[in-house]
Amino acid sequence: MVPAVVARHRSGRALFGINHPNRVNACLLGRLCGTCGQPLSARPGGRYALLLRPADIIRGYSAEPALHASDCARYTTTVCPAINGHMTHYRATPRDLEADRCGDPECDCHLWTNSGDHRRRAGTPIPPFYLATYGQEQYRPYWGSRSGHDDVLVGVSLTGVEPISVRLVTPRELSILDLASAL
Ligand SMILES: [Zn+2]
Ligand SMILES: [Zn+2]
Repeated sequence: MVPAVVARHRSGRALFGINHPNRVNACLLGRLCGTCGQPLSARPGGRYALLLRPADIIRGYSAEPALHASDCARYTTTVCPAINGHMTHYRATPRDLEADRCGDPECDCHLWTNSGDHRRRAGTPIPPFYLATYGQEQYRPYWGSRSGHDDVLVGVSLTGVEPISVRLVTPRELSILDLASAL
């Protein structure tokens, strides 16, 4: 299953590990699940889940869209190698999106550029992830600054929001180095 947020060529070929900004924004604004792309629960008592690194908690938002709290969060924590502990470090050589252009003039990959974020984190340890669940009435998109622009849609707010549950999902003993690198 290809997560809803993952970039793909017009042919359908997916680039696992690379989110497409339009797909992310559609999820954030439309209250859609980042894994299956379907609407999150809006029923009384409904929940959504966020996969959080310590740095997300500190800056007050999750850049990744929310997930269905049961099926999709469980699926993602099981199969995603950065979260399930199979990958301990980000790939040493960041993926070259410009080299991955497919040549189809109607595919939007000719607009893809390599991000400074990917270059900066290349080869660094992947932080531990926490799975937090929230009541659906707490859901708010978060507008902040990014790349020198203010009031940009950047994620799902953690500010002023109380989780129902939080648990560590990366199977790892937390060392003081993890905590320090997260900060
Ligand atoms: Zn393409
Ligand atoms: Zn889902």
